[in-house]
Amino acid sequence: MTSGPVPRLERERAELTARITRLDETLAGLRSDRGSETADDEHDPEGATLSSEWSRLAGLRADAARALRETDAALARATTADYGVCVDCGADIPPARLDARPTATRCVACAEKAGA
Ligand SMILES: [Zn+2]
Repeated sequence: MTSGPVPRLERERAELTARITRLDETLAGLRSDRGSETADDEHDPEGATLSSEWSRLAGLRADAARALRETDAALARATTADYGVCVDCGADIPPARLDARPTATRCVACAEKAGA
């Protein structure tokens, strides 16, 4: 028996939370930069750059927020008998898969069926 997934999930959770905080700060900084601009984006190269940077960062933030939700859900399951059991077919999820992806909720076959 290993120490289980909890320490690893806790670590990932802390990293994701820190990443989201940093992204929020960067996005807030971009917002205040944009707030001081009166020119419209379309004809302002600087504004266009800010927009694409904004989109990129907002995408990263959405990814991190989704990963954080998955990590929270995995942590909630980690202390129950449901952890490591496929939510679709009830089979044990192989340890190697859980090792690669501690937030996995489906076995490989069901994940492929679900398109995840
Ligand atoms: Zn399954």
